[in-house]
Amino acid sequence: MRRVLVVGGGASGLMAAIQAARSGAKVTLLEKNRQVGKKILVTGNGRCNLTNTDQDLSHYRGGEPGFAGTVFQGFGLKETLEFFDGLGIFVKDRNGYLYPYSDQASSVAEVLRMEAERLGVRLALGNRIEELSVTDRGFAARTEGWTYEGDACVLAAGSAAAPDTGSDGSGYALAAAFGHRVIKPLPALVQLRCRERFFERLAGLRMEASVKILAETQAPAEGKKNAERKELAEDRGEVQFTKSGISGIPVFQVSRYAVRALDEGRQVEARLNLFPRLGERELKEYFASRLEAGGYKKGEQFLTGLFPGKMSLCLLERAGIAKNKRAEDWTGEELDRLLGQIRDFRTEIVSGGSFEQAQVCSGGVDTREICPETMESRLVPGLFFAGEVVDIDGACGGYNLQWAWSSGYTAGRSAAKGGTE
Ligand SMILES: Cc1cc2nc3c(=O)[nH]c(=O)nc-3n(C[C@H](O)[C@H](O)[C@H](O)COP(=O)(O)OP(=O)(O)OC[C@H]3O[C@@H](n4cnc5c(N)ncnc54)[C@H](O)[C@@H]3O)c2cc1C
Repeated sequence: MRRVLVVGGGASGLMAAIQAARSGAKVTLLEKNRQVGKKILVTGNGRCNLTNTDQDLSHYRGGEPGFAGTVFQGFGLKETLEFFDGLGIFVKDRNGYLYPYSDQASSVAEVLRMEAERLGVRLALGNRIEELSVTDRGFAARTEGWTYEGDACVLAAGSAAAPDTGSDGSGYALAAAFGHRVIKPLPALVQLRCRERFFERLAGLRMEASVKILAETQAPAEGKKNAERKELAEDRGEVQFTKSGISGIPVFQVSRYAVRALDEGRQVEARLNLFPRLGERELKEYFASRLEAGGYKKGEQFLTGLFPGKMSLCLLERAGIAKNKRAEDWTGEELDRLLGQIRDFRTEIVSGGSFEQAQVCSGGVDTREICPETMESRLVPGLFFAGEVVDIDGACGGYNLQWAWSSGYTAGRSAAKGGTE
């Protein structure tokens, strides 16, 4: 019987262990925590957004955009839903975002654990793998006090995001020790910090907005600024203002681009459209009619009903309009500046949140060194990868777990069968 070691008992490792066991292998799952699936418990605010009905590949990012698509051909959304249905998860659809009907992430972790146990997977908990190596007989996974052996090994140790759930980044080092190239992991799906001080006053606001991220086309020479900027990403939704910058789902969605550009030494800015429901001309016309009806009001009062007071004051200040000046007395230039601020509210991004705050990481094991049909290493036969340790990150909305399920399925099955050997 083929012995498969799975390093990491998160979403992808549990899926890999189940699939390897269903394919007839003797599986040992090595997990440093005293429980499996700890990160699953915090997903989707404790409800676990386990996948999404919209599986357009644009929701998946990484060095090789087509890589995830090949993996999904083997095990995609339909197969994922059938799999969870078989385990007893009745899925609830919220605008395409899929959750367990129980609304409890623990249900998902629990059914995976139950299935692994039913299949006889040995759950070796409290085992942090310090070293993985190739031996004459396959693989050796060394912990502080023990060495586990297997004919094949699935590395599913996660990323460096949310380390309190167990994923401390050690998976990258274990992969690199085999000679694998690891694309620098950086926080993704994370808030962004901005340079301007006025955010302290905006803290707590939530507003519908679109967010564009622009970065210098290349890192400038020291002490210089590079004026040329390129748009990297855009999203729209409810933006949250914090005392140090911007957050919320649309910010999470674009954050990986901002964080990676900053890491390359490029200046990055966000441009917010605080009234994306109307185009430029329509907004101007709307303001003209609003002025006719309420031009007698002072600036902040005039904007009441459109924006929260703190934001109105900030917009007026940035447009250079005295807050006590009546709207009908604004000059044409002042009005244009105000509309400009509303539609193109610019802020300089200075950093992203930390790994502790991030939901996932961008970067990871370079997919060019992995075969997408099997998830087997192209460098080390018998070594397989699954989940976030690989250079694939998904958008917010169930895509990271879908990647964990699909890559875990493929790696587990292939490891049990012997991959491309
Ligand atoms: C707050 C939060 C909310 C999220 N919400 C969602 C959501 O709703 N939908 C979605 O799709 N995605 C969500 N994600 C992302 C998703 O949870 C992850 O992408 C996914 O769980 C990654 O699975 P994984 O198996 O690759 O890694 P992990 O789940 O991190 O599992 C890796 C496991 O390996 C173990 N490990 C690490 N190193 C070692 C070692 N050396 N030896 C032994 N064991 C080791 C860790 O303890 C861990 O249990 C969220 C993430 C966070 C942090």
